[in-house]
Amino acid sequence: MTTIKGAVLDAIGTAGPYAASRPLHVVELDLAAPGPTEILVRVEAAGLCHSDLSVVDGNRPRPVPMLLGHEAAGIVERVGANVHDLDVGRRVVMTFLPRCGTCGACASDVPTPCEPGSAANGAGELLAGGTRLSRAGHAVRHHLGVSAFATHAVVDRRSVVPVDHDVPAEVAALFGCAVLTGGGAVINSGRPRAGDRVVVVGLGGVGMAAVLTALSVADVEVIAVDTVPDKIASATALGAHRAMSPDRALADGLKARVVIEAAGHPSALDTALALTAPGGITVTVGLPHPDARVIMSPLELVAQGRSLVGSYLGSAVPDRDIPVFIELWRRGRLPVEHLVSGHIGLGDLNEAMDELAAGRSLRQIVTPC
Ligand SMILES: [Zn+2]
Ligand SMILES: [Zn+2]
Repeated sequence: MTTIKGAVLDAIGTAGPYAASRPLHVVELDLAAPGPTEILVRVEAAGLCHSDLSVVDGNRPRPVPMLLGHEAAGIVERVGANVHDLDVGRRVVMTFLPRCGTCGACASDVPTPCEPGSAANGAGELLAGGTRLSRAGHAVRHHLGVSAFATHAVVDRRSVVPVDHDVPAEVAALFGCAVLTGGGAVINSGRPRAGDRVVVVGLGGVGMAAVLTALSVADVEVIAVDTVPDKIASATALGAHRAMSPDRALADGLKARVVIEAAGHPSALDTALALTAPGGITVTVGLPHPDARVIMSPLELVAQGRSLVGSYLGSAVPDRDIPVFIELWRRGRLPVEHLVSGHIGLGDLNEAMDELAAGRSLRQIVTPC
């Protein structure tokens, strides 16, 4: 058992501004030793993602109390008895959906969310079952098998991908959610080819990672779309060939063969569908409220030979895809460090959620230690 410090959410559905309502409390917790398939990680860097905010505001209901944070990197401090392929001292990227490796979904050729991994995430437990976190003897749930807004985390070996030390911690962290999700949506689902136009609707961390990844593909025109003027300006600064509001894109009759929706709102999917060219593909990667619905024309899909696909975790296989993204980063073709908009401590998370909710930040990086 180790005593750690972490940011715990005690109730979901708290309204902002969070600087006043303060739903996250930094407290001392007990962290059990890693089980046989698990590792103890000292958290070096953790990104604040919209999916953290979605638990706080109730859009993604989860059991509480829960220690949030699911996009992170850190150093392995201890390994469980059955972990033989990871050394103490190695830097790892934590990913938010463990792959058990044996269920039907893991065995499938088509990347599909692991069944036991998804069940563990829904229950706020680790893949091997149960929680390793507690406060005054009461269990505290894990967020997506990671819970990285803390000094240390115990995670399953199958939740992490080792990286070399030339990848800085905050860059490594981004590969775990923003890049895997946004980049995976482009590479694994949209699959643009030379000469294609790619439109990304919704320019948070995931959407901007999709923009950067699309820009890494040769001879592709990349257009970024968002309702927030600052984000339109940021996308241009990141290298998007054009950036505009949804109203402008629709008024101009813009069409693209590959359209990525990364906002997690039904109106963004409406826009993405309207911008998809005949023969094109609409990839939806955002996570709207479970009750959200869109109205669409099935006839358009059929008559125009179009597809609509959902992409959880960028339809990625982290072991396979993270090394590919890192190699692109090493060659300077995927400058994901440009997504970092600020550095904060654990005690700043409530204010940081206000920045995120207002669309004023892409990735604020927590350095807990
Ligand atoms: Zn995330
Ligand atoms: Zn599985």
